[in-house]
Amino acid sequence: QCRAVCPTGAITIKQDIERVWDALSDPKIRVVVQIAPAVRVAVGDKFGIPKGENVLGRLVAALRRIGFDEVYDTNFGADLTVMEESKELVERLESGDNLPLFTSCCPAWVKFCENRYPQFRKKISTCRSPQEMFGALIKEEARMDEAGDSRKTVVVSIMPCTAKKAEITRPEHFNEGEQNVDYVLTTTEASRMIQESGIDLSQVEPEALDMPFGISSGAGAIFGVTGGVTEAVLRRLMNSDRAEDLEAISFTGVRGVDGIKEASVKLGDRDVKIAVVNGLKCASEVLDKLDAGEIYYDFVEVMACKRGCITGGGQPVPIGPRTKKARVEGLYKIDKMAQIKLSSQNPIVATVYDGILKGKEHKLLHNEK
Ligand code: SF4
Repeated sequence: QCRAVCPTGAITIKQDIERVWDALSDPKIRVVVQIAPAVRVAVGDKFGIPKGENVLGRLVAALRRIGFDEVYDTNFGADLTVMEESKELVERLESGDNLPLFTSCCPAWVKFCENRYPQFRKKISTCRSPQEMFGALIKEEARMDEAGDSRKTVVVSIMPCTAKKAEITRPEHFNEGEQNVDYVLTTTEASRMIQESGIDLSQVEPEALDMPFGISSGAGAIFGVTGGVTEAVLRRLMNSDRAEDLEAISFTGVRGVDGIKEASVKLGDRDVKIAVVNGLKCASEVLDKLDAGEIYYDFVEVMACKRGCITGGGQPVPIGPRTKKARVEGLYKIDKMAQIKLSSQNPIVATVYDGILKGKEHKLLHNEK
């Protein structure tokens, strides 16, 4: 079946913005929005705000002014991802099955692996991405009538990434026949909606995120840079928030701009071998060598964009070296300032595991049922 496709993607973008405007203007719909880690250090570019500055508070205020009912943080979803992916890694290390564990939060990488290296598909984590985990939680809360709002719930994500638009339509991300996330707006689309509303982000007074899902750890914040998922998982597995331990993890080799970074970390009496890969060219290199048995890893993080989501296809351009550096520093600064460093220390994470997620962890947080 042939479909007319706009070569520039402009029609898709336009339609997503219009569908979100329609939802916002419908009194029968409760519109919940989540903001991805990398968005907060880039959305300011369109408003003359210094590069890499964290404008989360201003963005929250602007989104409320244009009509979103509840504004939350995908960093909370990232905390859930860390909890589940750490557990999965421990299980696979114990069983020895399906190693290395590949990360699953970058949909462009998942698609690349499925198309080009299907022999590795089963090794990809069954964890849903942070936006999907968060969407599943919100939709389940609505299904159970726990949100205190009888209106239909629509979940919107603001993402640095165009591939996230495709991720939400994959059937394995559905629960009870329904998408967990209804619409994805890229950072530039969200900027456009704010501009269309006549709001100058640089002049907006910052506001706090809504509760309860407005609390997240520094580990969730660093998902937006290459190596961030690995660092967050290692923090969880080492289970220490002492400054010297956090620093030791950051110096294992997971940070930095190299296309392929390697680290070896002692967990119990085992040396766990890790690779952090950014860019699909480097991913090919690693997968070819794994396929040939030339190298061995227990855990491999792959992000399709160089330096991770801060340079995603939905972020404002141009992204020169100074902008990249400022965005990376912006995210590490958020982590440094965070009072909660480990996902497992997020009190709301414990609350949802004891409440809405109880007995449904696999249904809501994983793709494989
Ligand atoms: Fe999207 Fe790039 Fe991030 Fe992958 S690395 S999730 S393609 S922005």
